[in-house]
Amino acid sequence: MFKKLFLSFLLGLLFYTSFSQNKITINKSCSYYGEKTPTNVYTFSSDREAQSILNMILSASGLSSNFKLVAGDVPNAAAVILLNPSTKEPERYIIYNQTFMYNIEKRINYWASVSILAHEIGHHLNGHSLMPGGSRPSLELEADKFSGFVSATLGANLEDAQAAINNLVLEEGSLTHPPKSARLAAIANGWYENNKSKTSSIKNTTKKHTIGQRIGDNGVVVYLDNTGDHGLIALDDHIWATTKRAVGNWNEANDACNHLGNQWRLPSKDELNLIRLNKNLLRKEIQYTASGERISTEDYGIYWSSTQCSNSSAWVIDFSNGEQTCHETNYFFGIKAIRSF
Ligand SMILES: [Zn+2]
Repeated sequence: MFKKLFLSFLLGLLFYTSFSQNKITINKSCSYYGEKTPTNVYTFSSDREAQSILNMILSASGLSSNFKLVAGDVPNAAAVILLNPSTKEPERYIIYNQTFMYNIEKRINYWASVSILAHEIGHHLNGHSLMPGGSRPSLELEADKFSGFVSATLGANLEDAQAAINNLVLEEGSLTHPPKSARLAAIANGWYENNKSKTSSIKNTTKKHTIGQRIGDNGVVVYLDNTGDHGLIALDDHIWATTKRAVGNWNEANDACNHLGNQWRLPSKDELNLIRLNKNLLRKEIQYTASGERISTEDYGIYWSSTQCSNSSAWVIDFSNGEQTCHETNYFFGIKAIRSF
């Protein structure tokens, strides 16, 4: 039933985006694993998930975008430069394959898609002039280093930052792309550089907040913007103290958060995913049976987001595997609360 719902939602999206489809001709590109990018690519408007990853990466790097993000029929993800047919000016694009990104997130993890997009973004933000038919090994390593640096800012551990390359790149590399060992080293180099600068910036400045910091007695910082002064706090407590648990339908979930006061609210889908990525910073959720007996200390719950997919359904995220699905609002799921500061 739910699978069917989700499928019809996807089909709906497909139908909708087909109206904003474009055909573009690529002359210079970098494809993540060095595959040949087709000359003619059909592009579609980007989805919210990719757009939100892009915004996170830009905010983590402190740089502003000099390119457009679109979905399209490239092999995985590619940074491309093309000539605008009317102005004859070069334009920078990032084109990603939606199916590939969806599958890689399911097969490996969320950080794999973050690190791939960060690599492609790295080409544009570093102003790389890409080559016809591919990129060059030195530029690839620079883009990988950027990906490692940004992944560290967003809270990835080194293993997560390297997951996409570890799982999918061939050992030997190609004419345009360096071997796996070199790409892993470049990511590690960016990742360590970031962690080094984090330690020194804590020494040199009076940064008010850090990810994982406890604020009050029931909130944990799960996101900071690039000023370090503002971000998001997740509630690290049972939402209903009396029942020692937090489960309800979607309306109850919204009400329970709003009743906490102090601007607590149900997180949007992207915010909920941020909480999931930082779930190790939160106390383990303890489940109780009706008679008050502890049954588990692991956090495997499925939680409501405030983001609706129709009038009568909303997105939920499974914290055990990151799966995002759309459910009728009368179902019962777990509740996490968030607030901005
Ligand atoms: Zn590249």
